[in-house]
Amino acid sequence: MGHPVLRTKARALSPADVRTAELQTLIDDMIDTMVEYRGVGLAAPQVHEGIRLFVGDLGARDEEDADAEPMVLINPEISPVGPEMVEDWEGCLSIPDIRGKVPRYRDIRLRALNRKGERIEMRAKNFSARIIQHETDHLDGVLFFDRMNGFESLTFLEEYSRYWAKREDDEEA
Ligand code: ZN
Repeated sequence: MGHPVLRTKARALSPADVRTAELQTLIDDMIDTMVEYRGVGLAAPQVHEGIRLFVGDLGARDEEDADAEPMVLINPEISPVGPEMVEDWEGCLSIPDIRGKVPRYRDIRLRALNRKGERIEMRAKNFSARIIQHETDHLDGVLFFDRMNGFESLTFLEEYSRYWAKREDDEEA
């Protein structure tokens, strides 16, 4: 937090950009970084690349496919399916050891390119939808603080683990 790239709108990639060896290497490095830091998502601006790309562990919690490979999503466009918002805890690799409650759409539709530069469409709910909204925000220079209804739930990780994690049944604590 504090690096200007995290507050800058990232640029879109063409399918030809996506297929370059340079970009494929960046994607592999981002997946390695996400796994190393035990994150569930990582957007390119978090590694100081101002492009519309993120990786996400979208089978992480509430989907059946818990062993799925991390997904690579490029130029994502989100449309909410219905108005329902859910408030739940989030953290961010760019804001270490802080948690806060953030409202997000429960159910979304997503259009994007995959790492082959092909158009894909998918639907995501609950925790996967939360990751996608958090990461897509990074591509627009938005951090999770900006989405909070208030700062009352802002919590250091130590206090989160002590007072909130069990009650909220959060696996990541
Ligand atoms: Zn983040």
